[in-house]
Amino acid sequence: MLGKNLKTVMVIGGGIAGIQASLDLAERGINVELVEKNACIGGRMAQLDKTFPTNDCSICILAPKLAECFRHPNITLHTLSEVKNLSGQPGNFIVKIFKKARYVKAEECINCGQCIEKCPMRVDDEFDMKLRKRRAIYIDYVQGVPSIMTIDKENCLFFTKNACRICEKVCEREAIDFDQKDEEMELNVGSVIVATGYDIFNPKTLDSLGYGRYPNVVTALEFERLISASGPLGGHLTRPSDKNEPKKLAFINCVGSRDIKNNPYCSSCCCMYTTKEAMIAYEHDNEIDTSIFYIDLRAAGKGFREYIQRGCDEYAIKYIKGKVAKILEDDQRNPLIIYEDINTSQVKQLKFDLVILASTMIPKKDAGELAKILGIKINDFNFFKAESYQPQKSSKEGIFLCGTCREPMDIPNSVIDASGAAAKAAEMVMRG
Ligand SMILES: Cc1cc2nc3c(=O)[nH]c(=O)nc-3n(C[C@H](O)[C@H](O)[C@H](O)COP(=O)(O)OP(=O)(O)OC[C@H]3O[C@@H](n4cnc5c(N)ncnc54)[C@H](O)[C@@H]3O)c2cc1C
Repeated sequence: MLGKNLKTVMVIGGGIAGIQASLDLAERGINVELVEKNACIGGRMAQLDKTFPTNDCSICILAPKLAECFRHPNITLHTLSEVKNLSGQPGNFIVKIFKKARYVKAEECINCGQCIEKCPMRVDDEFDMKLRKRRAIYIDYVQGVPSIMTIDKENCLFFTKNACRICEKVCEREAIDFDQKDEEMELNVGSVIVATGYDIFNPKTLDSLGYGRYPNVVTALEFERLISASGPLGGHLTRPSDKNEPKKLAFINCVGSRDIKNNPYCSSCCCMYTTKEAMIAYEHDNEIDTSIFYIDLRAAGKGFREYIQRGCDEYAIKYIKGKVAKILEDDQRNPLIIYEDINTSQVKQLKFDLVILASTMIPKKDAGELAKILGIKINDFNFFKAESYQPQKSSKEGIFLCGTCREPMDIPNSVIDASGAAAKAAEMVMRG
């Protein structure tokens, strides 16, 4: 059994919340076993172009934390890994981990990319929201940590057809290892922090918005990738149907949220990130004219109201208080928004080049399964259930929660939450 001693905390999920919790614990001299399902840590924050409220480049803030996590002597990183079982009691848990083989030797790969260039397979790139293809050998994103390639077994020609092996031939460092095997391991830890983040509501279920049928209707997370310099368009925004530069953008807030038919809760950051995305679009091309449709603006953080005001004053954003009923499409594939103007109670129609849907944050689809494994409760919306007045405490002693796995929240709040969970877990394992 692995695990240095019981002054060890397992953190599940390597997004910004899990990273912050790990770094806080490690700095206190506590060992951390950081378990991440994907090939690289970073979570959703790595997919964002810039972040409100400062509009700093997201990866520029995240990258030093990724590197610190990788290098910290008190943190052991388990990527491509998932928790399969938990037994024992608070202060002395035994956790079973399943770790998928990477088929690339971590100590040899230098992320030179020669294998990627030669790999013949094209697969939807999940990191880029399937807006482009990646190869069967890949790294989630250029700055990804660990900076090692991974072979996607389901799509690799060697595993599917016993053919190819080109990556092995071109790798000068002989880093490819098709013989690697999936592993199971047991870790002994004193406490657990869950930081498994969120998924995005699929707006295809709202047929009236045309997402999936109309190419010029995209989600806000897709827009982050479309506008990012490292994204599929190299930062030059064009619309999907004809590759023309869009001049009229519309954002629709509360898609799938604050809606009793879907998710009654507020997704908490859409008012802010749609303003941010409109600002970035304007910075790319100040002929862009943006409207944001909202039910009411929830800009509750420090400086957030001023941020929205800046959106109006400096970026010519128009905020339309209106409930969108439907999106249609004209014969040029321009989306037409039919909405009720809440101020005048009139039904109106406006034409745009590109429509961006602020789809709500929803629980991870496997949250229920992980809750069962850990023996913790989920709430009415399927997020992990936190105690009312101690929000980082789960329903089980010794297991703590942080970030968007317990409710939608932005990055600053995820970081605060993570430090809170780390403090609670540290208190527990230090007490013995
Ligand atoms: C379009 C959009 C734009 C946004 N823009 C901003 C912004 O500008 N500013 C801002 O403050 N916030 C913004 N946000 C919110 C921001 O994305 C979140 O606050 C932040 O990413 C939450 O971090 P997290 O660590 O809780 O979750 P995540 O980023 O989701 O990370 C969770 C991690 O856990 C891993 N994981 C999941 N399940 C398991 C499992 N079973 N086992 C192991 N690992 C697992 C995942 O692979 C992932 O790496 C935006 C959100 C959206 C949708």
